[in-house]
Amino acid sequence: MAALDEHPDALVLAGGTDLMVAINEAHRSLAGDETVVSVGRVAELRAWAVDPAARTVRLGAGVTYAEIARPPIAELLPALGQAARTVGSPQIRNAATIGGNLVTCSPAGDGLPVLAALDATVELLGPDGVRTMAVGEFMTGVKRTARRPGELLTAVTLPLLDGWQGYAKVGVRNAMVIAIASSCLAVDLPMRSVRLALGSVAPTIVRAPAAEAFAEATVDWDAGALDDVGIARFASLAAEAASPIDDHRASAAYRRRAVEVLAGRLLRRAFPTR
Ligand SMILES: Cc1cc2nc3c(=O)[nH]c(=O)nc-3n(C[C@H](O)[C@H](O)[C@H](O)COP(=O)(O)OP(=O)(O)OC[C@H]3O[C@@H](n4cnc5c(N)ncnc54)[C@H](O)[C@@H]3O)c2cc1C
Repeated sequence: MAALDEHPDALVLAGGTDLMVAINEAHRSLAGDETVVSVGRVAELRAWAVDPAARTVRLGAGVTYAEIARPPIAELLPALGQAARTVGSPQIRNAATIGGNLVTCSPAGDGLPVLAALDATVELLGPDGVRTMAVGEFMTGVKRTARRPGELLTAVTLPLLDGWQGYAKVGVRNAMVIAIASSCLAVDLPMRSVRLALGSVAPTIVRAPAAEAFAEATVDWDAGALDDVGIARFASLAAEAASPIDDHRASAAYRRRAVEVLAGRLLRRAFPTR
């Protein structure tokens, strides 16, 4: 932290899988006198812990997607485990950190819809001490966050939910692919709540509150069931929450349809009986 206090504009380097690409492709310049603070070997950032009383998991920003993809983290946070398994290749997952994914804040970042659906809390350490905020407040736009100069993202905290949760993504192929559309659905059975977050279909990750409210009101919670008409309505409300763009990967219309299909599939998996 002392290095960042001394050089608040320093580049923080974690796994380098975003940063080095940006530098190599000259999206980000590295002037000769620029300071780079490498956090890869900071043990506190690589640690994670369960708080059984609060029913939360705190993941240090430096926890890699390789670690998140396997038990015990993948069993505690199944949707995040699924998202982690879709990130790049084994080599990328061994280096890529959840903190780097979050600070890059690409709308296609695979971990981010899960953090949004689970209402994760972000923890930052800066010259003025520690501050925490909801992940939805942290992600402010395309590759833009509420992080201030000199701040280190230290951790994200996620709730341990009792209920089905899952992540799904559409890309141009099955592996090593950036999401064209993605979605995370998480059910909180005791609270009878359904959370849905969408990726790659807006400047940053969005929740779909109308779809969530519809599902909460329509699901037969005692039977764990929802009929096909309800699933279709939920999916169409999810698509309405998207504001996608046309780009070289997909048209806006394709993205909207993809996210509709993903949301419907996830809800059907959560409530398989009709
Ligand atoms: C071939 C390839 C395939 C990829 N595939 C995917 C994919 O399928 N899905 C996906 O989501 N991403 C993918 N990525 C992007 C990348 O791997 C992820 O975004 C990854 O999580 C970034 O983590 P990192 O530790 O490598 O970040 P870095 O590159 O080290 O850092 C990224 C940004 O975060 C900042 N930063 C990092 N840690 C901190 C911290 N603790 N505090 C403050 N700032 C910090 C850095 O300064 C930088 O701005 C891919 C990248 C490559 C090269």
